[in-house]
Amino acid sequence: MAGLDEVLKKHPNLQILNNELLIRGFSLFKIAEEYGTPLYVVDGNLIVERYKEMRDAFLSENCNALIAYAYKANSLLAITKLLAKEGAGATVVSAYGIKLALLSGVENSKIVLVGPSKSYSDLTEAIKNNIGLINIESEQELVEINQIAEKMGNRMNIGIRVNLGLSAGAHPKIRTGGRKHKFGVDEKTAIKLYKYASKMKGVKPIALHAHIGSQITDLKVFQLEAQRLALLSSTIYKKHKLDVPVLDLGGGLGIPYTSNEERIPYKEFAKIVCKTINEVYENAGLQKPMIIVEPGRYLVADSTLLLMKVNYVKRIGRKTWILVDAGMNDFIRTAMYNAYHEIVPIIIRDKKEVYNIGGPVCESSDVFATNRELSEVKKDDLLALLDAGAYGISMSSTYNIRSRPAVVMLFNNKLYLIRERDTFEDIIKNDKTLPNS
Ligand code: PLP
Repeated sequence: MAGLDEVLKKHPNLQILNNELLIRGFSLFKIAEEYGTPLYVVDGNLIVERYKEMRDAFLSENCNALIAYAYKANSLLAITKLLAKEGAGATVVSAYGIKLALLSGVENSKIVLVGPSKSYSDLTEAIKNNIGLINIESEQELVEINQIAEKMGNRMNIGIRVNLGLSAGAHPKIRTGGRKHKFGVDEKTAIKLYKYASKMKGVKPIALHAHIGSQITDLKVFQLEAQRLALLSSTIYKKHKLDVPVLDLGGGLGIPYTSNEERIPYKEFAKIVCKTINEVYENAGLQKPMIIVEPGRYLVADSTLLLMKVNYVKRIGRKTWILVDAGMNDFIRTAMYNAYHEIVPIIIRDKKEVYNIGGPVCESSDVFATNRELSEVKKDDLLALLDAGAYGISMSSTYNIRSRPAVVMLFNNKLYLIRERDTFEDIIKNDKTLPNS
């Protein structure tokens, strides 16, 4: 189990002063007092820093790369706008995702639509706005896009998502690249569809795409993915004399959730990916392609903590339970993926104890940690669950008739409310009652 020192070393925006945990010098106590709990606290500057790290890593490899932030990780408008302002593109999975990207200020050409089961309205929105790329996942989808685009007098850039039979990720539920998964088409079909698309009037095939999973920490997996996609491009060229000028590697880059893990060397990531792809293209006599990456977690996960209040501390058998005011509706990763997140009390006491930490939802999976050694925790204390920026608020719900939490952002030394807590009216506003009820 990591000590507090190691946790802080991995989170340089957090400090302890007079036994109190601060974020960039701000008192989390005062923040909780002003905005209530459960509360997500986002460090906006860290998001920008992560984006720039990755952008610069590709630039220093002289690699033409589009970093298309995966909105599913966290689609709060303040965050999507921040990244758009820095020049990030957007990877979205729905018509509303396209609208959100445009509202955030992302250029149409930098928007990528992905997903195995897009609806007619998702596709129409993409074609109407002539977005940069639609990654298709079946022949039927290709035909449908062609029909809609032809009708609209448009020609859409499409990519083909390939199921490489290569899967990775921290939990079975976030692995997506295996043959048993629903995503993409096999290599043979990809070649066939690329050729088929080249003859269509409403589409223009430009890319091959894969996304093999999430929270991947082994760079060799990305190397293999890059190589397999690049080799497939060269096969398409050899067989059909068709260029594949864009390779979209999807997202998946992991972060160190436990303090014993190291941060993935993002420079190495860019280097390995660019070098692998460029070598294959060069050997095939092809021009270097543009590379798209779709990071979600990597850009936003460590920017955010979930602040929660201790309602009760009690003992059942040999276990001491801390019962907090945040639940699986606010943050589902521990319940759904058995994910590990560091949890730090805001007041640090000398005495230590081992705790289980659970929420208010009536499900046994509504637990954030088990057998966790923390400095002693008392009723009404505050706890911070770290690295909560990805798949936190974006997967939150009103389950158990609970509000989705409020979110504040620290940016350039100021604190902003970027999402109001749901009110009761928010929760029921779309419900309709039966007549005479
Ligand atoms: N791209 C696609 C197609 C995805 O399905 C996902 C996540 O599931 C992502 C990008 C973002 O993944 P991550 O947050 O692991 O970078």
